[in-house]
Amino acid sequence: MVGSANYIVYMFLALVLGLTSACSSQVQTPSDWADFWQAAPQRKAATLSQRLKMTLLPVSSLGKLHYQQQVYDLPVVRVRRVAKQAPICIFAGVHGNELAGTAAAVSLIEDLAKLPRLYPKTNFTLVPLVNPWGWERGFRYNFEGKDIARQFALSGTQETDFIKALLAREHCQVLVDLHEDSQHSGFYLLTYEPADPHFTPNMVKRIAKALGIAPAEQVPQGVYQVSAQEFASNPRPTLSQYAREQGVPHTYIIETPMRLSMQERVAIHRRVLDELITQLSHK
Ligand SMILES: [Zn+2]
Repeated sequence: MVGSANYIVYMFLALVLGLTSACSSQVQTPSDWADFWQAAPQRKAATLSQRLKMTLLPVSSLGKLHYQQQVYDLPVVRVRRVAKQAPICIFAGVHGNELAGTAAAVSLIEDLAKLPRLYPKTNFTLVPLVNPWGWERGFRYNFEGKDIARQFALSGTQETDFIKALLAREHCQVLVDLHEDSQHSGFYLLTYEPADPHFTPNMVKRIAKALGIAPAEQVPQGVYQVSAQEFASNPRPTLSQYAREQGVPHTYIIETPMRLSMQERVAIHRRVLDELITQLSHK
C-alpha cells in the first residue's frame, strides 16, 4: 500500500511514459480509499460528496433524490479545460454494489484537480455515484428496488430522469459507464459496432499486458460488440445504449470481475478510462 501522492505520480508516469508494470502485484491504489470499499456502514454518500468538494473543482448537484425521509444529492463534477468542446461523460455507481467504478471515477476527478496538465485539451462531466442509496448499503438496486441500468426506456427512476436531462444538455462526445461483474473471471468492455473493429480489442490487449490481468475468457478479445440487430431489439436499454440513441458517438461499458482485489479492479477502470480519454478526445 502506498500513499496517494505516490499513486498519482505512478499513474502520471504510466500515462505519459507507458511504464506501467506488466506484473499485477505492481497494481497500486491509494491507502486512503479504504473507507470506500469496507463494510457498507462505513460508506456515506455525504462523505463522498465532501471529498469531491475538497478537490475545489466545480461540484454541483444534478438534483435531489427523495426516498421517504431521506434525501440524497446526485453530485456532478464538470471539468472544463477548453472552450466549446463537448465533454467526455463518465458515470459510475449505477449499481450500488459495484464499488470499483465509483472509486476509479473519484480517483480520476482527484487527479484532474491535482494535475492541471492532465488532459489539458479535454473537458469532462463526471457523475461518480448514480445510486447513492444502493452504494451506502452495498445494494445493486435503488431505494425503490429498481435496476437503474434497465430503466432508461421504461417509466424511469429519479436517477434516470436526472441523467436524461443531463444528456440532453451536455452533448457528450464519449460516454463511459463503469460496472462490475460477478460471473466473469476477467475484465471486458461492451460497445457498439465501431468504425474500426480492431480499436477496442487492441486496447484491451494493451491494458491486459500492461496490468498483467487477463480479459474475460468468455468474451472473445475482451470486447462484447453489440450488433445493430441486438441494439434495435433490446427492450431494456442501458445508459450507454440510451446515450447512443441520443446521438453520443462513442459509448462504452467497462466491466471488472468482482473476484479480483479492489486494487486491481480500480486499476483496470482507471487504465481503460485513461486509454479511452487519450484515444477518443476530439474525435
Ligand atoms: Zn453493473
